[in-house]
Order: sequence, then C-alpha cells, then structure tokens
Amino acid sequence: MTTLLQVTVYSTQPYDADFLRQAAVTGIQWHFVGEALNLQTASLAAGSQAVCVFVNDDLSASVLAALRQQGVGAVALRCAGFNNVDLKAASQLGIRVARVPAYSPEAVAEHCVAMILCLNRKLHKAYNRVRDDNFSLQGLIGFNLAGKTVGLIGTGRIGAATARILHGFGMQILCYDPKPQPELLPPSARYVELTQLYHDSDIISLHCPLTPDSHHLINAVSLAQMKNGVMLINTSRGGLIDTKAVIAALKNHKIGLLGLDVYEQEADLFFKDLSDQMISDEVFQRLLTFPNVLITGHQAFLTQEALTQISQTTVQNLQLLCTGAACSNELTS
Ligand code: NAD
Repeated sequence: MTTLLQVTVYSTQPYDADFLRQAAVTGIQWHFVGEALNLQTASLAAGSQAVCVFVNDDLSASVLAALRQQGVGAVALRCAGFNNVDLKAASQLGIRVARVPAYSPEAVAEHCVAMILCLNRKLHKAYNRVRDDNFSLQGLIGFNLAGKTVGLIGTGRIGAATARILHGFGMQILCYDPKPQPELLPPSARYVELTQLYHDSDIISLHCPLTPDSHHLINAVSLAQMKNGVMLINTSRGGLIDTKAVIAALKNHKIGLLGLDVYEQEADLFFKDLSDQMISDEVFQRLLTFPNVLITGHQAFLTQEALTQISQTTVQNLQLLCTGAACSNELTS
C-alpha cells in the first residue's frame, strides 16, 4: 500500500481546494484549513510532512520552527512572491521551500491593463450610474492611451507581458529593471533610468518583487518626481508603496488615478468577507473615500489558467521536495 503524502493547506479558499484536488487525485492527502498560517495556527499542521501556503501566510523564523516541531519538512508556496518567508531560518531548520515562479503572467498583466482601462474610462462609475438610470456623461472624460507613455518598474515575466499588451495600444513604454531583458520586450519599449521613468510617464505600473531594496519604492521623494495627475498601478506587492505618502499625493492631485490590487496591510483584510464588520484600518478606509481610486482584493492572478498552473506546479513541487529529489523551483537563502 502506498503511503499518502500528508499536506496541510493554509488560507484555503474553495477554489484552491477544487484546483488542488484536480491536480492530485492520488498520492496526496490534503488537509484544507481556512485559517492563515501563524504562530497560533502552526499546530494545525501536526501529522503533515508539508504545508501549502499563500501570500499572506506568516513564514517567519518562529512559525517555521513551530512547523518543524510538528514534523513539517517542506513548504510549497502557491504563489510567485516569497517576501513572507524567512529562507535563512528555513534552511537552518532543514525545511525545503519551493514556489510557483511562473504561472500565466498574462493573468496579472491583463488585470493590470483592466485597471488602467477602468480607471481611465471610469467604468466603475459608469456601471453604477447606468444602473441608477443616470445617463449623464459629466465627469467621465478619459484620455486615449495611444501615444501616451507608460513606465513599467520591473520587466520580468509580468512586466514584459504588460509591455506586450500596452504596445498593442500604441503606447510608448519606458522600463526600469536592474536586470534588463530587452529580448522579452516589444519594439516600443526601452530601458531608462528610474528618474526619467518617473519624470516622463503618464502611467506608472509596478512589476518588481518586494525586497528590502524595493520596500516603499513609491514614497514622497519618488512621487515628487512624477507628472502631475499621474496614474499609478500596483498589482505587485503592497509594501512597494508608502500608502500614507500616496494618500497625501492623492490629496494634492499629484496622483490623478490610483489602481491597487495589493495593499501593505492586506493580510488583515483580503480574501475574507468582512461585509458585516467594522474595518478598523483607517488608512485603507481613507483610500476608499477617493473617487479616483480603484481597489481589488489581490485577484490579479485569479484566472482558470493561472489556478490550473499553480496547482499543477505546487503538486510537482511537493512531490519533489518530500522525496528528497532536486526541485528547480526550490528557494535558497
Ligand atoms: P519576475 O521574477 O519574473 O520579475 C521581476 C522583475 O523585477 C525581475 O526582472 C527583476 O530583475 C526586477 N526587479 C527586482 N528588483 C527590482 C527593483 N528594485 N526595481 C525594478 N525592478 C526590479 O516576477 P514576475 O512573475 O514578473 O512577478 C512580479 C511580481 O508580481 C512578484 O514579485 C509578485 O510580487 C507580484 N505578483 C502579484 C500577483 C497578484 O495576483 N497581484 C500575482 C503574481 C505575482
């Protein structure tokens, strides 16, 4: 009889369970829990050889140590970003960690472009107006994307996919990345220094990882270098933006339009139905008061194709990590 690999899946949403079950019908015994992973919930992994986690699960040194005590030897991230994992502590504890580096970058790129179009053409307002029998166009004026300049910070898989879509709109594309990959980019894209990107872009979109270097990349100093009325889009990680500086820039009209799929303190809010509760995060509440701000709850990845790829790669990662085999998606400190 084959022994099933026991895996505790944290922060499980119904669609996670569906797609993971489809990806591994045999070989893995899934233990789905809705709770996020933290020091209090680490004990739920007792009896599992591995845990499967998402963007807002806490994989700090103390939580990893608690997992190790339960017998957990592997962590499978069902996402690309790994800013929430203390890789050094994992290595010291002998816990192997793997991520899903590439899963349909188009899913995130298309959501980014959806935010640009929605904010520009004010579709969120138009939707409500028409449902209210209000057919006035007052206040709904947008601008043509053709001929405008977009600045992309980070041109890895998602940034490059975004560039390819925006090339189709006839935009000029300025890129900044410490590791340029011009071969991934369309003809209308070129690399420039960050200061020029800030200075010349009508729209700025973030596609770099959150690291100690990129934390609060968008702050009062960088905002001051941008065009008045700039559109800022963040589908990457909330910590790239100093939210209080952004609120000040909305108030003085430096930022004309803001689209966020991620938020610095999202772990307390996103992926839950809080509609019958009071939200105590006053910074988030302030953001919601602006008519020129569009927020989605970290859903840029949420397509059929991406969820299928995430689940399939996660299952492969788990099988490799737990059998001691080499895994090309393994993260090292
Ligand atoms: P990637 O690794 O393919 O590309 C990231 C790029 O950013 C690389 O080219 C890297 O050189 C560059 N970079 C690193 N530091 C930088 C800096 N300080 N300034 C500018 N560029 C920098 O990653 P990807 O697959 O394109 O994903 C990008 C980010 O998108 C991830 O780190 C993750 O945080 C985020 N993401 C969000 C969602 C979502 O649902 N909202 C889904 C997937 C990924």
